[in-house]
Amino acid sequence: MAPGALRLLPKVELHVHLEGSFTLERIKELARVAGESLPEPAEALFDVRDLATFLHRLDWWCGLVRSEEEAEAQAHGFASWLGGEGVAYAEVTVNPTHWSGLPRPALLRAVDAGFSRAAGEGGADCRVVVSLLRSQSGEEALGLVRELEREMPPRVVGLGVDGNEASAGWTGPRLAPAFRAAASLGLGLTAHAGESSGPEGVRSALDDLGVSRIDHGVRAVEEPGLVARLAREGRTLNVCLTSNVRLLFGDLAGHPLASLVAAGVPVTINTDDPLLLGTTMAKELELAASVCGWEAGDLLAATGVAVEAAFCTEPEREVLRHLLLAGWDSWAQPG
Ligand SMILES: [Zn+2]
Repeated sequence: MAPGALRLLPKVELHVHLEGSFTLERIKELARVAGESLPEPAEALFDVRDLATFLHRLDWWCGLVRSEEEAEAQAHGFASWLGGEGVAYAEVTVNPTHWSGLPRPALLRAVDAGFSRAAGEGGADCRVVVSLLRSQSGEEALGLVRELEREMPPRVVGLGVDGNEASAGWTGPRLAPAFRAAASLGLGLTAHAGESSGPEGVRSALDDLGVSRIDHGVRAVEEPGLVARLAREGRTLNVCLTSNVRLLFGDLAGHPLASLVAAGVPVTINTDDPLLLGTTMAKELELAASVCGWEAGDLLAATGVAVEAAFCTEPEREVLRHLLLAGWDSWAQPG
């Protein structure tokens, strides 16, 4: 593969967080405007190795965003950056609990506006997956969905849940009514599981929450019967290699991506928190190619899995299929 070629090809991403879209420069600027000092030296802010610390940091810097203009600018800047990385379409997770400086409807309106402005300028076409926090009560979760029912920003396409399963415990039954209500509104359903939880978290996401996708899900590999079920039922795992190496496995050699692919599980390749982790979609696809021995045609196929699992409308999916084939055409011909 020619170096840098992947960066230019149209790509699709389903597992990426707006909370992880900040640069250090942007954080320093927001802190200055908010009149707050950094809790650590700037160069240490992104050096996180455990999920609990990571989530705590997200709360702090997202909380620096205190106006709709700042939130709009964050969304616009990120969608523009993704576009520059060749991402044609992305479903961006936004968890309003991290953004303590803005009321939830104002945040979602501002993000929607920022994404629309970027798309109009040739940036990535970004949609929003609104995410619950694992530790929220069932009532709070249902409250968010009722709020979306009253005011649904046009780019919202799904409901998810993220946060630390290890500390929040068994949450599937508690959040199930919110997921059922979201499904009745036509939203796609996804859940972080099988990262800070084991196979039982993945099973709960499937059985209690009824999701069609799992964000991470990689620890399903610990239970062969569950891997077979994911393959049989065509539930997609949105895998993030760099993130998993940093927070879970320690090195790429221990990552189960190749086993999951070999078992027939639909898998997509994603960045999770690209600016914070110093990664891009092109880098993640290159890593996946090295782990699985993929050639160009396999990378196109993995991108195609993301198109099929996206929460967009069927006409939009058809447009994405054509976009991918046209963009990858000469580069990814088999043989
Ligand atoms: Zn994630």
